[in-house]
Amino acid sequence: MSRLDLHLHTTHSDGSCTPTEVVTMAHRAGVTALAITDHDITTGMAEAFTAGQQCGIEIIPGVEISSFAGNSELHILGYFLDWQDFDLLERLTTLRESRHRRNPRIIERLQTLGIDITYDEVRALAGTDSIGRPHIARVLMDKHVVASAKEAFDRFLAEGKPAYIPRELPSPAEAISWIKAARGLAVLAHPTWVKLEDCSLVDLVRQLKADGLDGVEVYYSTHAARQTREYLNLAQQLGLLVTGGSDFHGLTKPDIEVGIGKGTLHIPPSLLPKMKKATGRL
Ligand SMILES: [Zn+2]
Ligand SMILES: [Zn+2]
Repeated sequence: MSRLDLHLHTTHSDGSCTPTEVVTMAHRAGVTALAITDHDITTGMAEAFTAGQQCGIEIIPGVEISSFAGNSELHILGYFLDWQDFDLLERLTTLRESRHRRNPRIIERLQTLGIDITYDEVRALAGTDSIGRPHIARVLMDKHVVASAKEAFDRFLAEGKPAYIPRELPSPAEAISWIKAARGLAVLAHPTWVKLEDCSLVDLVRQLKADGLDGVEVYYSTHAARQTREYLNLAQQLGLLVTGGSDFHGLTKPDIEVGIGKGTLHIPPSLLPKMKKATGRL
């Protein structure tokens, strides 16, 4: 059965597999087209294209930009964008630097809590420019401070926990405008994680559409069947594209596999021509 996976992370952000490894796994899982969507970075694309050519998988350039609105982080996926666009790269660099400023402060907090951890250790483990909280969680696991990444977030790193430091993030409208300026499609990632305060999801997505949003990630590893139906209706109601992805991270989210999520995810390949049509590339 052929399938898509339009949401995958690699070692270029907080995933534990290289782009080549991710593409190879996708090929084995029967994926015919995939998008690499690393957090706030597009440097994994070059290697992914080479690997895709070798196994005969279509590679779609992508990114996942973190934004913040009200009380919630909103992740905006970008697809088919010019991943080497100068302005986009500059904006993403600035965004990653804000995370760099945040990480040493998280480490300081952990140290004040009596945990033996240094920023150098986290950087060494990440082996990349793009360090995230999952890397810190992995160091805490290696040091047996916690037994799982989930415990690291639940006890220390999640919002409201003792080592939580907020990030300086763009608004969703800004993130969407960056993607559009690089001629990409902007899609709201995993609506299940959106924290709604005063407005309904429909109102939020309607506002995002007014800001330029093109689609909603309807198919996702942790969406229950009921949620998939709800988000599908929402996308249809507002005339938005439907996309889907596993949000594979490798070891950081060990229960999620490329192409099939927790085993039941199936993203229909028929979504792709509609996306291409929307970009004007079909
Ligand atoms: Zn996300
Ligand atoms: Zn993601």
